[in-house]
Amino acid sequence: MLTDNYALIYVHIPFCAAKCNYCAFNSKISTAEERESYVDALITEIKSTPYPLPPTYSIYFGGGTPTILTLNQLKKIFAAIQTTFNVEKNSEITIEANPGTVDKNFLRGLREIGFNRLSLGVQSFNDELLKILGRIHNSTTALETVHTAKNFFDNISVDLMYGLPNQTLDDVKVDVETAAALDVQHISIYGLEVEPNTKFFQLNEVGRLNLPTENICADMYEFIIATLPKLGYNRYEVSNFAKVGRESRHNSGYWTGAKYFGFGAGAHSYNGKIRTSNVANVADYVKNIRAGRDVSQVEELVTKSAAMEEFCFLGLRMTAGIDAKIFYERFGENIFDVYGKVIEKNFKLGLLQVDGDKIFLTPRGFEVSNVVLADFLFD
Ligand code: SF4
Repeated sequence: MLTDNYALIYVHIPFCAAKCNYCAFNSKISTAEERESYVDALITEIKSTPYPLPPTYSIYFGGGTPTILTLNQLKKIFAAIQTTFNVEKNSEITIEANPGTVDKNFLRGLREIGFNRLSLGVQSFNDELLKILGRIHNSTTALETVHTAKNFFDNISVDLMYGLPNQTLDDVKVDVETAAALDVQHISIYGLEVEPNTKFFQLNEVGRLNLPTENICADMYEFIIATLPKLGYNRYEVSNFAKVGRESRHNSGYWTGAKYFGFGAGAHSYNGKIRTSNVANVADYVKNIRAGRDVSQVEELVTKSAAMEEFCFLGLRMTAGIDAKIFYERFGENIFDVYGKVIEKNFKLGLLQVDGDKIFLTPRGFEVSNVVLADFLFD
């Protein structure tokens, strides 16, 4: 992938119909007026992106729930991107949606605007678990949404979660098998993390969150990684599975160190040297944009050694691993000179494999990936 010459585009829509009990994302319940002024601000921010503007092969509308906006609002934002950036033909253009926020006409409208990949936040097909999570949809709605979406999209991703309160290994089996039976192109499965400032965090503090034990979670994970490949979904990253050729180009770009422009409240950008983040509060974001003030601040100057660490740390999360040639092109150094000892040690332990220029984790390495990846950090 030509990550060095291209940039990814991310658009953040920080609004949801309701706040889920586990959610720590920058999202809130909003009024129609708030959404309208946010869209205006977003368009202003996109159109004032400073030059030079690299071409893009991936646009991603995430949130929040982007589909809480009207089709007209989404169309206006998309048009602003198209007039500002050179969007390659055949780009991957993704929008996240929640079952229950999109019907047939809406899905058709998304396709007409130009979205060609739909990422559905299903999380589970178990109604009890969906209630515990505080999701606004039930399993019937989720199934119907996928079936309807297939009339318009041939690239659909379903998000699932495991390690949920009251969830059993059998529940995970049903969820995984149900998602695969839908014959979508991509499945992401994330383990629940109990984050501060969430309802789950409060419940956990007072011992009222019945989480599965670490061993059960490990069994769930084992089941997931053993089963999905048998059902036609190759694991290409720790938590991501896809049919051949349907890996997410957007996420793969992040994992291989691509530059990215993030627009909207709390969105992050990276130009290859500096990482910036936008003001997260929606009202402040809109006020500052209206006043012509910069909404971004520098978060981190990415030094060469930090970029090398990240290249390995993120790249090794993917089953394809990292490429010594790309490392050299990017940093002007031979990866075996920089990380020779680390590579040799983990190779001897059977945790890393080297095949020509490719360096990747073995199945055993994946099991203890945190330990292996930590070796790639400079002291
Ligand atoms: S729909 Fe997603 S972003 Fe919105 S509250 Fe739920 S988890 Fe958070």
